Amino acid sequence: MIRKKVLVTGGAGFVGSHLCERLLNEGNEVYCLDNFFTGQKRNVVHLLSDPYFELIRHDVTTPFFIEADEIYNLACPASPVHYQYNPIKTMKTSVMGAINMLGLAKRINAKILQASTSEVYGNPLEHPQTESYWGNVNPIGERSCYDEGKRAAETLFMDYHKQNQVDIKIVRIFNTYGPRMHPDDGRVVSNFIVQALKNQDITVYGKGQQTRSFQYVDDLVEGMVKMMASSNGFTGPVNIGNPDEFTIMELAKKVIAITNSNSKIIYKALPSDDPLMRKPDISLAKNELNWSPKINLDDGLIKTIKYFESIFN
Ligand code: NAD
Ligand code: UDP
Repeated sequence: MIRKKVLVTGGAGFVGSHLCERLLNEGNEVYCLDNFFTGQKRNVVHLLSDPYFELIRHDVTTPFFIEADEIYNLACPASPVHYQYNPIKTMKTSVMGAINMLGLAKRINAKILQASTSEVYGNPLEHPQTESYWGNVNPIGERSCYDEGKRAAETLFMDYHKQNQVDIKIVRIFNTYGPRMHPDDGRVVSNFIVQALKNQDITVYGKGQQTRSFQYVDDLVEGMVKMMASSNGFTGPVNIGNPDEFTIMELAKKVIAITNSNSKIIYKALPSDDPLMRKPDISLAKNELNWSPKINLDDGLIKTIKYFESIFN
């Protein structure tokens, strides 16, 4: 067996911790790099006893050097609450983090995958979104530090590929949920589950008629690993998401039903620039990666709710 050396930035976060676990299970050596802004040691504490796992405290806005075969670049807060806390730092993380990791990939001749986002489509005027859609993004709004930071990172990835032949892969991730989301993360699935388990009011923003397509984290990790292994020259961007689309109100009702909660639904103001709808077209991932999501929303919610019950009890 060939033991690859794999660097995962943002590895102590929600998605990163699942990815590190998967890569270790496949027999790789994993370097998990994180500044612990939104990530936590508890997400990877179960991996610390593995001699092929290394946890490194580092901020991707400053250069980092290591020998590796592959780099997954996930470092960036993903929840609006956290990425809006210090928008300048969010932009620096996306842009300088991309430059530092691409520079490293170029120097050590590593393959590098960027965790991009469906937010590059902004408030989309095309539905569902295909990779060829350029997006409808406000450059000066509340979400811009994240959306434009990720768009700039995509540009850098493509330019390092064209100018320096760096072997790059870009995945555009749609809303993902699952165990190890931070309870205070502020994203809709974790908010609703925490509220339902505590019998607190469920906070629906706006009228709850906006839609999202929710992907279980194991499906995402499978897509990322397949993308990294895809044939040389296939750069993406490729959408990785679950095309089953739900209104936020439908999600609230599902969570209440599964948790058997006494929570009531209350309405709060819709944040500015909140996209009205979002649903991936995943034809490209199906054709190029032979990938499609396997876990439906009900099954994924049941697993996620079990996790939150375990951390509250
Ligand atoms: P998360 O906030 O749980 O994880 C992000 C990780 O990056 C955290 O561990 C955080 O501490 C770390 N980090 C942040 N800034 C850093 C910096 N400057 N240097 C080093 N580490 C830093 O979020 P997540 O949901 O796990 O998202 C992981 C990646 O996937 C992000 O790049 C995000 O933009 C992308 N993504 C996630 C979703 C989703 O629904 N979860 C959707 C689209 C894209
Ligand atoms: N949302 C909500 N209540 C909450 C948190 C979020 O109604 O407690 C809504 C939010 O306005 C958005 C959707 O749920 O329309 C998804 O929000 P999230 O922050 O999870 O992801 P994003 O908006 O980045 O897709």
